[in-house]
Amino acid sequence: MDTRWAEIGDGVLVRRYAELDLSVGLVLGDERCLVVDVRGDAEQGAEFAAAVREVTRLPWTVVLTHDHFDHAYGLGAFLPCDAWAHPACWDELVRLDKVAEPGLPVADRVELDLGGRRVVLAHPGVAHTAGDVVAYVPDADVMFAGDLVEHVPDGTFSAESFGTDTVLSRWPAALRRLAAFDAATVVPGHGAPAGPELVETCRAQLLALLDLRAEVQSGRLTPDDALARSPLPADVTSAALTKPAD
Ligand SMILES: [Zn+2]
Repeated sequence: MDTRWAEIGDGVLVRRYAELDLSVGLVLGDERCLVVDVRGDAEQGAEFAAAVREVTRLPWTVVLTHDHFDHAYGLGAFLPCDAWAHPACWDELVRLDKVAEPGLPVADRVELDLGGRRVVLAHPGVAHTAGDVVAYVPDADVMFAGDLVEHVPDGTFSAESFGTDTVLSRWPAALRRLAAFDAATVVPGHGAPAGPELVETCRAQLLALLDLRAEVQSGRLTPDDALARSPLPADVTSAALTKPAD
């Protein structure tokens, strides 16, 4: 897959990378633009910043969907600028010395005015990480969902979807809040943009994993039986089932 921009709504662009099948975003207003995630290190951030500059000369604001390296560690290439993320995301980036100080907080919900267009930033609850944030563009009906949903070539989640910072038990509720935006187009952190059905598919799979985990932990099901019954591939299911109960 070549790296390229795709315009998925009027002035709403997605840039996809072969590496990790990462998707990052750009929303154009009349006065400024919003950059959604910044890639994985200084070099990647610089590449993405230059790519944004080929599209627009507007000043940029950044939102980070969460603190994982592939989405957040390229931030330095965009600074100084207004940068938004959940406080837990900033805490982690400061702790890891990825930024000198926290940026602007999205503790619950923030509305940005890009000039002639607004964007809603929202924290739908603890899920993939403690500090996931989504960005919704109402006039284009596009939702940038970060890694709350994924759409990898073989399905949805990958084994990497379930990290030590994931709270599996609360993820379905976060997706219910995400679904309430009723976005026509959902951009996952990894994989191709999709319709609203992706959110429901991911939620149903997470609920199935939670059921299987409870059955295994109570001894009613062997781990092998759980793998056989899972809607997800074995490696993905194992990653979810071997997480400590949360
Ligand atoms: Zn992630």
